[in-house]
Parts: sequence; C-alpha cells; structure tokens
Amino acid sequence: MKTHTEYLTFNTKNRYDIVNITPQVETAIRKSKVKEGICLVNSMHITSSVFINDNESGLHQDFLEWVEKLAPYNVKKYRHNLTGEDNGDAHLKRTIMGREVVIAITEGGLDFGPWEQIFYGEFDGLRNKRVLIKIIGE
Ligand code: ZN
Repeated sequence: MKTHTEYLTFNTKNRYDIVNITPQVETAIRKSKVKEGICLVNSMHITSSVFINDNESGLHQDFLEWVEKLAPYNVKKYRHNLTGEDNGDAHLKRTIMGREVVIAITEGGLDFGPWEQIFYGEFDGLRNKRVLIKIIGE
C-alpha cells in the first residue's frame, strides 16, 4: 500500500474566506502515485473548515452570510471570549461547515460528482493555518 502526507498552509487576507483547494489536492494525488484509494483532507484548526460544494461565487457569499447569521461575530456574545479571545463565532462556524472530507480516488483522480470541488473555509484568518492531506491506496 502507498501512503502520502502533505500539509498546506493558508494565510487569507480576510478574516472570513473560502478558497478552492481542489488543484492542490489533485497535485498531491499525482505525487502519491495512488490509482485506487482514499484521500482525506482536513483542517488542522478549530476555527476553519474543509468542505465540498459548488465552485460558484454567489454560493460562497451565501455560505458566509448564512454562518454569520447563525454565529455572528460579536466579541461580547460568547462565553469563549471571556478567556480573552475574540473568535467564539469562528469555533461555531467551523463546526457548522465541517472539519474534513474524504474522497474516493479512482484511476488516479478524484472521483467527484459533476460539480463537486473542495474548499477551505476560513473563519479566523490573517494568520498561518494548516490543512492536512492524507492519501492511502494502491
Ligand atoms: Zn478560540
């Protein structure tokens, strides 16, 4: 069995952002030389997400506005922020949008539905954050 591990680092210019990371994952799969297997992609931070959806800018804005309604940025609103942090909202947003995705690798590529793409969702950016890619297979 082959394995391949890779870490991506993101430092978004905005506190909240959505980044298409499908090309980086495809590159990792090519490097792994795995033709049939499984690819795990997860955020290594509790204030950012990895998820699969459509690569459509209106939808990305909809996601950001939706999570902002559910967990608005408000330093005084969250007990978590009593610790001196200001990212109580980001922990909740990350939980809504998810930690990781697992994708089948078939014939050396991501075995996606027609519109599926992988995204990094940032909810407390402006600093280095890591994403893990783990690929196993033959
Ligand atoms: Zn925090």
